Amino acid sequence: MAAAFDSRFCLCGGALRRSKDIQNAIPDWRGSFTGCVRRRRSSSAKATSSSSASLPQPVRYAVLGAGFAGLSVAWHLLESNPKESPLVVDLYDEGGIGGGASGVAGGLIHPCSPKGKLLWRSAEFWRECLKLLSAAEQTLKRGTTSDGERMIWRRGIIRPATTMKNAEILKENASNSLSCFRREFLDRDAAQKLVPGLCVSFDSSIYMPHAVNIHAGRYLQALFSACKSMADDASSAGSGRMEVNLFKRSIESLHELQGNYNCVIICLGAKAAMLPELSGLLPLRLCRGIVTHMKLPDATSDVYEDGSPSILSDAWLAVQGPRSLVMGSTWDWGSRDYSSSVSPEEASRALDELLPKAASVYPAIERWAPVGASGGLRAMPPLTPLGSLPLLGCLDDIVGDKGQRRYWLVGGLGARGLLYHGLLGKLTSQAVMSQDEDILPSELTSWKRLLLKARG
Ligand SMILES: Cc1cc2nc3c(=O)[nH]c(=O)nc-3n(C[C@H](O)[C@H](O)[C@H](O)COP(=O)(O)OP(=O)(O)OC[C@H]3O[C@@H](n4cnc5c(N)ncnc54)[C@H](O)[C@@H]3O)c2cc1C
Repeated sequence: MAAAFDSRFCLCGGALRRSKDIQNAIPDWRGSFTGCVRRRRSSSAKATSSSSASLPQPVRYAVLGAGFAGLSVAWHLLESNPKESPLVVDLYDEGGIGGGASGVAGGLIHPCSPKGKLLWRSAEFWRECLKLLSAAEQTLKRGTTSDGERMIWRRGIIRPATTMKNAEILKENASNSLSCFRREFLDRDAAQKLVPGLCVSFDSSIYMPHAVNIHAGRYLQALFSACKSMADDASSAGSGRMEVNLFKRSIESLHELQGNYNCVIICLGAKAAMLPELSGLLPLRLCRGIVTHMKLPDATSDVYEDGSPSILSDAWLAVQGPRSLVMGSTWDWGSRDYSSSVSPEEASRALDELLPKAASVYPAIERWAPVGASGGLRAMPPLTPLGSLPLLGCLDDIVGDKGQRRYWLVGGLGARGLLYHGLLGKLTSQAVMSQDEDILPSELTSWKRLLLKARG
């Protein structure tokens, strides 16, 4: 059920025409944004003047951050909005869509640990992730994005064992099956049939045929288009006005939004802790990663075969085409460098680190040429007995807004944001709309109990 509308949070009254995508606009909150509302109101005044007074006011949500987490939350808020209930979802991102770690992710998705063990609630995470990928793909098919380039590669992923002990663990974990995600244990011959030239020193590897890799930037754009299409379709079908807007602007403090929204959902990745209200409170460690984009020179005739899987090892190769792949990733713990740009020195250090690791499992990578590098900051959550689990929850107790259920967090997606984002967005949107934090699994909110206990 949607949260009951509270007129104190209403920015704009009456019926407004659906706003266009305003990406790249940098509205001043009190000035141009209200100006923009006023303009929209007057241009649609003719059509709505007689009926506006009687129309219900929309529920308004602000989603801070347009990475995997923020876009998933936005999509699920729109998807589960009850028919006939007007809804406005405003996304804020200082860098635009994919401005943080999501935009540089290598794009590998599978529900297993580095040792091939299934992660906590892996089946649900996997299912919800595929659902969002499919929503984004549908939008591409509908032609609502101009970029016709490929977004998803269903080529599977292979992980060769790197030590004898590792080989035994992979074998044991491969036998623990999940019906929606098959894993196979392969010997050297079988592995090399899949990837000619693969080095399988310990005669064993785990193969995940259902695993996929995506082009993160294209996926995020397509998911935002899917949000817009959903809002457009609902509004034109007359089932209640839905609106999704993107504001390219930085939010420096939650105070900036106070009084304007029913709820604010914070999906700021590694920068969540930079909000003054959350400073020093989130149990996150930051870790910068660099990926190198590699191309096979035109003169080289052996291309990466179409059916061959991507490769996981101490360095991974996310294959995007016969002559194009992403090689990752470095782990610079404690870095606070959020920038996606990488200096020539940093790019060169990353290449020196990654290339030998990748070549130890796929020697042919030496023939590929680096054509670029990008970087991002991971927000790593604490390790628990169930693994490194993301952080969810209502933040009102923490930011001193007791009882309002207004501020929510989706954070600490670590190095697995793609796998996690679907289910986390779904659970959070349900909790936000029903104003019920108990919907969230206690394993994902336990960090709050520890924090509140420590604060007395
Ligand atoms: C090099 C690298 C490779 C990776 N590869 C993979 C992979 O292959 N598979 C995988 O599953 N995961 C991968 N990850 C991890 C994945 O990228 C993260 O888990 C995921 O991106 C986190 O998503 P998020 O939405 O929580 O944060 P982000 O993507 O960081 O999104 C936060 C957004 O908030 C915006 N923002 C921040 N502060 C403000 C502010 N004050 N005001 C307004 N906007 C703000 C930022 O611009 C950003 O767009 C990789 C990470 C790195 C660094």
